[in-house]
Amino acid sequence: MSALQEEATPSAREDQVVLRAAQLVKEFPLRRGMTRATPGVIHAVDAVSFSVHAGQTLALVGESGCGKSTTARMLANLITPTSGSVLLGEAPVASMSAREQRRAREQVQVVFQDPYASLNPKMRARDIVAEPLRAYHRYSESRVKELFEMVQLDYSWAKRRPAEFSGGQRQRLNIARALALEPQILLLDEPTSALDVSIQAQILTLLRRLQAELRMTYVIISHDLAVVRQMADHVAVMYLGEIVEIGSTESVFVSPRHPYTCALLSAISAPDPHLRGRERIVLKGDPPSAANPPAACRFHTRCWKAQDQCRTEKPSLAAEGERGHDFACHFPESRTFSERA
Ligand code: SF4
Repeated sequence: MSALQEEATPSAREDQVVLRAAQLVKEFPLRRGMTRATPGVIHAVDAVSFSVHAGQTLALVGESGCGKSTTARMLANLITPTSGSVLLGEAPVASMSAREQRRAREQVQVVFQDPYASLNPKMRARDIVAEPLRAYHRYSESRVKELFEMVQLDYSWAKRRPAEFSGGQRQRLNIARALALEPQILLLDEPTSALDVSIQAQILTLLRRLQAELRMTYVIISHDLAVVRQMADHVAVMYLGEIVEIGSTESVFVSPRHPYTCALLSAISAPDPHLRGRERIVLKGDPPSAANPPAACRFHTRCWKAQDQCRTEKPSLAAEGERGHDFACHFPESRTFSERA
């Protein structure tokens, strides 16, 4: 076992739920001209529930437009749920006082996807990292220096502007800024998708080291399942705004039960032997519109296993004790991926 694995060994603290989504729903009003069926709404997120445990990583995965980024923005209190709750510990964020909500915002920070777009090009690196400290009246030069060291950036570059940094260095600046207020939880929105493969690996290593050292909890949003396999303890697969499968990463990756999860996993090219050489499942067409999602099982228009029941009866997200994860499907897959290979 490596030093990193030893540091990350589960403890009693990891049984503690630090962040919870409870029946989260987010609808956006349709803008004029998007569809003939006005008035209406886009059902971006529909009845999504999960818990995130202290010191662990939950990944939200799925195709573009499945609702994973909208879910993360609700978790970060950047947008308000249409219904349902985000709970920090046991406390619903929506019922907190203004002071408590400000404290909650300190506790949950976001690292955005694009290190080029998320940094103000006119600001110096040290001011970018210091910005949240100043906003919360906690600024000190020594804390800014410490944050540069934590993300392995040379403080002699503190007066440079973002254009003078590489993509990986800019993402390190983003991470330093997100860590400034000592958050308990980091929401990582596609943190490496804009970076070259070699730089991706460095940023993922940095994030894993910081998590172990600072005992932080991560929610990672990614379309890259190889990254998810590497980073996450638990994974929630989303399709058209709903969670269709959720469980430990090991269980979901080795024994996926929902056909959509099987299709996603079949597309991975990765060095992991469990993820290689299996039957490729190519899904027909694009996901249907979230403004008018299919009735019952939302995946039935693209599912090769669909039967009449799938078009009339919504499958519930039911637990399967033996393999330890939940899935919403009337006719789940039963083979493991190692059996497919
Ligand atoms: Fe496919 Fe039916 Fe399962 Fe939906 S419920 S994923 S349509 S088999």
